[in-house]
Amino acid sequence: MNQTTLKLYTLRNIEQLPQYQQLEPEAKEALRVVAHILPFRVNNYVAENLIDWNNIPNDPIYQLTFMQKGMLDESHYNLMKTALSDSGQTEGDLAATIFKIRNELNPHPAGQLSSNVPSFEDRPVPGVQHKYKQTALVFPSAGQQCHSYCTFCFRWPQFIGENDLKFATDQQMTYLKYLKEHEELTDVLFTGGDPMVMNSKLLQKYLEPLLSPEYNHIQNIRIGSKSLSYWPQRFVSDKDSQEVLDLFKRVNDSGKQLAFMAHINHINEMQTDIFQEAIHNIRQTGTQIRTQAPLLRHINDDSAMWAKMWKEQVRLGMIPYYFFIERDTGPKNYFSLPLAKTWEIYKNALQEVSGLARTVRGPSMSAHPGKVAIEGMNVINGEKVFVLTLLQARNPDHIKKPFLAKYDENAVWFDELVPAFGESKFFFEK
Ligand code: SF4
Repeated sequence: MNQTTLKLYTLRNIEQLPQYQQLEPEAKEALRVVAHILPFRVNNYVAENLIDWNNIPNDPIYQLTFMQKGMLDESHYNLMKTALSDSGQTEGDLAATIFKIRNELNPHPAGQLSSNVPSFEDRPVPGVQHKYKQTALVFPSAGQQCHSYCTFCFRWPQFIGENDLKFATDQQMTYLKYLKEHEELTDVLFTGGDPMVMNSKLLQKYLEPLLSPEYNHIQNIRIGSKSLSYWPQRFVSDKDSQEVLDLFKRVNDSGKQLAFMAHINHINEMQTDIFQEAIHNIRQTGTQIRTQAPLLRHINDDSAMWAKMWKEQVRLGMIPYYFFIERDTGPKNYFSLPLAKTWEIYKNALQEVSGLARTVRGPSMSAHPGKVAIEGMNVINGEKVFVLTLLQARNPDHIKKPFLAKYDENAVWFDELVPAFGESKFFFEK
């Protein structure tokens, strides 16, 4: 089964998707209301091959791609629903309601707009985040879409057409000047959106400059992508698939490493023949595939599933890399789980796999100081605590230094934790 024609469904044409007709009226209403706030897009491959339409609404890939009522707080949902059903509302009124709700959803968590954008010649560098010393994130302007959108996506502001909320490189590709000057950088991560929505010529425009001698300090080029799950045809049967694979090989042959950071939320994304063919083709180019995903209520809050998925990833030659905690933005209330439960799921899954799959790091929260990982829970001097470390930090001196937070069974995010033993600040805040 090698489909080659990508068909995208959005709110405008979703009625053309045959399976849409079988949804209950409430499900259709939720889709219409929530998709005015958060981005919605699903493609024919996902709808026809990954979603089990006999298991609606519980199917994990349905939850991953179709909006549910609970993805907005009740007040936001009712506000949007009322606005849509009020015939007296002008387009301007509707836009104002949408804008208001979106701005109340913490569109740029962890200081992304204020703290991560670097400067070149006293101006912010468009489309770049440089939070950790060795790694820069680049957001190619043509790669700020995806083959389908995930309902939980923390990058949702990238896809809603509001330029003030969007990261993207400029036409002059100023990011290249920045990367050249910053010899402390060893890694560049192309991200989005999904850079794999770009055709091979555009992709080449971003990757190939980094192969020239001025960029010798950059050793690893990473591409963050969900295309293996959402459109594996990209590496098998699209009309420029071979050019993409040739480009990957050229990067690896240059002596740098190309790492494909595959985003896979559920093992149901890994069942088709074309998924496995795509992995094979990518690996043939010498590219390493590492996998990552957040833990999400309603989708993958099941340690047995994670263990099975990591085992299967290792069998297929991929390296489990990150187990994230859902970020504090957008529809987080629908997806997040208490940190204590998150830790249990991660630990139980890890206990079921061999050492080759224990490469996965986490549970990790991308918070303002860095990637905060839960290392476990303990009781010290009668006080129950979370043991935490920073896997990555704005200040490299802080990496891997353990610290303790007071145990809180309801906390779902780092900023809800307080230091243990009555301390007023965590060590990196002092
Ligand atoms: S593929 Fe990645 S960037 Fe795109 S919507 Fe999903 S999580 Fe977000």
